[in-house]
Amino acid sequence: MTGKKEKSEKREKRLQEISLLRTIPYSDHQRWWSEETIAVVTGANRGIGFEIARQLAGHGLTVVLTSRDTGVGIEAAKVLQEGGFNVDVHQLNILDDESVSEFTKWIKEKYGGVDILINNAGVNYNLGSGNSMEFAKQVIQTNYYGTKNMIKVMIPLMRPSAAGARIVNVSSRLGKLNGRRSRIEDEALREKLSNLDTLSEELIDNMVSTFLQQVEDNTWQSGGWPQKFTDYAVSKLAVNLFSMLMANQLAGRPEGGKIYINCYCPGWVRTAMTGWSGNVSAEHAADTGVWLALLPNKEVTGKLFAERRELKF
Ligand code: NDP
Repeated sequence: MTGKKEKSEKREKRLQEISLLRTIPYSDHQRWWSEETIAVVTGANRGIGFEIARQLAGHGLTVVLTSRDTGVGIEAAKVLQEGGFNVDVHQLNILDDESVSEFTKWIKEKYGGVDILINNAGVNYNLGSGNSMEFAKQVIQTNYYGTKNMIKVMIPLMRPSAAGARIVNVSSRLGKLNGRRSRIEDEALREKLSNLDTLSEELIDNMVSTFLQQVEDNTWQSGGWPQKFTDYAVSKLAVNLFSMLMANQLAGRPEGGKIYINCYCPGWVRTAMTGWSGNVSAEHAADTGVWLALLPNKEVTGKLFAERRELKF
């Protein structure tokens, strides 16, 4: 069997396994959540975010569907509300400080805080073999800085509970630190980034700024950056690293006030982001995110997953 065929058959088998896993209901002792549990999903008006909102609401949580366009968000929420789900809606542009501040104020007043945050909002401007850096700044701003800011502003709003609050970042395996085909070439930097003793927010920010500077100087091609979807890969690498860092920082919180944070890769998904050319549905792509958000085993944190399995980062 050729490597490609074998890989595709393995993937198909895993897809089937996941479909089966999704039919197994959570038992009462596993269900730590209720309709009082508040889950916020960013960029939930379409694509994977909408599906995550739909599936979480299907499990009986109250979902706050957020969208940067108010009208579009209301329409998307209506679809779920008409299906009988507990879904609220609010405007949120993760790059707009005023919008973020308005949103956090609203959620605090209305719900007193949140239990689950799904950072799904993201952008990508390259399709197929395209690797233009035209929108690199926007990609880094949205995927990394926007997500990082949401994590920071939402942590103080995360409600204490025995099960612990959860943050799930919809990321990508393209942002693996030691990915075989897509990784930064600078071994010394990789080493520093992979070690919790040397990893810092400043180090991640510096990596990202160096990349953007090289894009501006048009020298990024010789900079040893990931070869495929370079700006996107750097943005998701930064998200994965920041999550690892936060998981470590949050680990010291007392029992009852724990916050678990993980990332996952949804696969190559048929959404607007891929020009509908992906090989998995949004429904399937949402699965690992929902599974991570609801994990009865709460000790999982600082990891990257795909297809409900941990990926070697
Ligand atoms: P879509 O393009 O369908 O959806 C992206 C969502 O993000 C939209 O709701 C969009 O809002 C929102 N968004 C973008 N910028 C902002 C912002 N500044 N503030 C708030 N919301 C924003 O893409 P997908 O559903 O495919 O992607 C969802 C996530 O999954 C992303 O983080 C993506 O990187 C990740 N992912 C996707 C893969 C894929 O194959 N599709 C693969 C790996 C990861 P609007 O409608 O207003 O544009």
